[in-house]
Amino acid sequence: PPQVGSGTVHPPKKPTDSKQLPKGYVLDKDGKPCRTCNSLLDFRKAKGMSAAAAAAKPVARDCPPDVNELGRSTWTFLHSVAAQYPEQATPAQQDDMKSFMRIFGKLYPCWYCAADFQEWSAKPENTPKVAGQEDFGRWLCDAHNEVNRKLGKPEFDCNLWKERWRDGWND
Ligand code: FAD
Repeated sequence: PPQVGSGTVHPPKKPTDSKQLPKGYVLDKDGKPCRTCNSLLDFRKAKGMSAAAAAAKPVARDCPPDVNELGRSTWTFLHSVAAQYPEQATPAQQDDMKSFMRIFGKLYPCWYCAADFQEWSAKPENTPKVAGQEDFGRWLCDAHNEVNRKLGKPEFDCNLWKERWRDGWND
């Protein structure tokens, strides 16, 4: 079976050479190595580095993002968009947000992450809630928690999304 990471199995083509790939390594849909679908560690191992050498090599600041850095940056962007969304959005703003999330789901540059996100947000109970900031912020928190669950990470308390992403903590 194809080797995939934490995403749902969407079998990519096999690479042309049959070198041993690290367990859980995800290929791009064209069968080529996919930087934004894997951790930097796995990407380095797939290029033939030992696990020890891959872990020891410093991370250059101007490298392309791996799946984790891409994810962190994207969540920062999305939750910040939610933090600036109007408390009561006009019909036009709601349409824009629906379109934005639909297109985002198609273009996210980790193919299995995008496929899972599209599948989740297409369910009637999960379609984006865009009436206003509170609705959208909580919906996005739920979407993020869905990925957290998939990856075995702790869920975030969505009552705290505004402290985390808009107002800051009371300290
Ligand atoms: P992140 O999950 O990136 O979170 C960043 C910060 O957001 C956290 O430190 C926390 O303060 C805050 N936070 C956490 N949860 C919530 C929440 N529910 N609401 C509000 N704030 C929160 N990676 C994969 O390996 N496989 C996937 O299939 C996958 N799918 C993804 C789909 C999407 C749409 C996106 C945007 C990312 C996806 N990622 C996936 C990346 C993954 O979600 C993480 O970004 C990555 O694992 C790095 O995690 P992290 O622990 O640094 O924190």
